[in-house]
Amino acid sequence: MLALKGIPVSDGAAIAKAYCLVEPDLSYSKIMIQNDDAEILRLNAAIEHTQNEIEHIQAAATKKYGEDKGAIFGAHLLVLQDPELFVGVAQKIQSGMNAEHALDETAQFFIQMFEGMDNDYMKERAEDIRDVSKRVMAHLLGVELPDYSRIKEAVIIVAKDLTPSMTTQLDPTFVKGFITDIGGKTSHTAILARTMGIPAIVGAKSATMDIKHGEDLIMDGATGEIFIQPNHEQIVQYKKVEEENKQFQQQLAKYSELQSVSKDGYFVELAGNIGKPEDVASVLAVGGEGVGLFRTEFLYMDRLDLPSEEEQFTAYKEVLQALNGKPVVVRTLDIGGDKNLPYLNLPQEMNPFLGYRAIRLCLDRQELFRVQLRALLRASVYGNLKIMFPMIATLEEFRIAKEILFEEKEKLLVEGISVSEEIEIGLMIEIPSAAMIADLFAKEADFLSIGTNDLIQYTLAVDRMNENVSYLYQPYHPAILRLIKMIIDAGHAQGKWVGMCGEMAGDSIAVPILLALGLDEFSMSASSILNVRSQLATLSKEQLVPHIQNLLQLSTAQQVELAVKDILK
Ligand code: PEP
Ligand code: MG
Repeated sequence: MLALKGIPVSDGAAIAKAYCLVEPDLSYSKIMIQNDDAEILRLNAAIEHTQNEIEHIQAAATKKYGEDKGAIFGAHLLVLQDPELFVGVAQKIQSGMNAEHALDETAQFFIQMFEGMDNDYMKERAEDIRDVSKRVMAHLLGVELPDYSRIKEAVIIVAKDLTPSMTTQLDPTFVKGFITDIGGKTSHTAILARTMGIPAIVGAKSATMDIKHGEDLIMDGATGEIFIQPNHEQIVQYKKVEEENKQFQQQLAKYSELQSVSKDGYFVELAGNIGKPEDVASVLAVGGEGVGLFRTEFLYMDRLDLPSEEEQFTAYKEVLQALNGKPVVVRTLDIGGDKNLPYLNLPQEMNPFLGYRAIRLCLDRQELFRVQLRALLRASVYGNLKIMFPMIATLEEFRIAKEILFEEKEKLLVEGISVSEEIEIGLMIEIPSAAMIADLFAKEADFLSIGTNDLIQYTLAVDRMNENVSYLYQPYHPAILRLIKMIIDAGHAQGKWVGMCGEMAGDSIAVPILLALGLDEFSMSASSILNVRSQLATLSKEQLVPHIQNLLQLSTAQQVELAVKDILK
């Protein structure tokens, strides 16, 4: 009953068996063989198993995404049937190599050949060969490749890392929580766990080393504690925590019917952050007053190609209609950083969070940006749509993005398609350069939304994904508080509303400060809304405001935290 500790990122406790998603060891020995017929039979058996496996995946993909998407796995089946590849392997076996060695050498030869070609289609073939030969190798070695689509019992996933796209594929019916070796509090994987309402612990460093597949685990997503093969006492303790969590949730439930108002009668908007239309239900269930951030990139993930204009239109319309006139702030595609779209074949970068992402990619690849904007404009007549652009660093970017939006609007009007005249256009303030000139943006935007997840990362030069520097990820750092004040004041000076859609908006130490600073809209994971609404009911804005000057003069994040706790006593 070893205990581990990681960074708690999504509340709740879970007990289940560990499902370790570790990269399997596919190393092999190079052996000279005597009986090549027997070796070729072994190879053929591995190919047959691989064929069955790919057909199974193809059937599942066809069911989930439709015929044409399932057919993409046909490319993998073609690789398996490619005479050049497998005749090459057989010839090497006949010359005395064992099947693993022959497969690896032949596959590497073709992978390098295709990767070296100046043609995207051919480069993709290299990926197909890599994938297929890995599967054949696993069968030769008798090693099982992880496949969470086959999970059919309650488990806690243990992985080195989980990408956001892998996370969206987890089925909460069976996946009761997850633990990763690396990651930070505001990595998108952590944010997704909160959206899905499952406990999560990241940055547990040695979890994949210490936890074995199938071992019993208890995890507490509020404290970051993990117990491996728990004893009786720990199980009793877990049940107590679970009961307390349940009671707390029951007490909060009454706030789903109430308005978001402070003790002294000051109203704010508490909105939800979503990634897909399905997430709207949990925002409405807690009485969310809108959607403050629709991370549209999730519509582009967990699929094999770009979503069409029609598919996007349907998704945006569904969300707008479900919100029934309440505001919906849709953020245009923010891909890059920790969110990748393999089918875009984006270049590997040294510093992906500082690189080719979000609005930078959209202004460069306008063909895909314009499709999204058209879909949004068409959907605008179904509700209260607001559009915002992510990762804006300069005024020019904002102006160009707006211009493209207006061009698409004009085109639609010429085509006789209606577009709402009420759409507000804003931007995320998540880069320090934009924060510093928030006054200039406020003149040209209808609203500003503060993205603290990135603003903290860029202001403190601290990678939001890196558990080794997570101590520097400080929302209450005086520099962050001063920037937030500047942004809110700049917006208000131009009569514009200012929201916050970073995780800080749902943080119980930050909420009193943000209330006192006059933030208009707080947008967060649906699972945080009731907590914040119940906290607001205990706070008096009028009593908090006089403390702001003092809080902004403090020197460290720790001092700020202690001071706020003191004020709230
Ligand atoms: C942010 O940066 O605060 C934000 C809300 O965007 P994301 O977390 O998707 O980068
Ligand atoms: Mg961001």
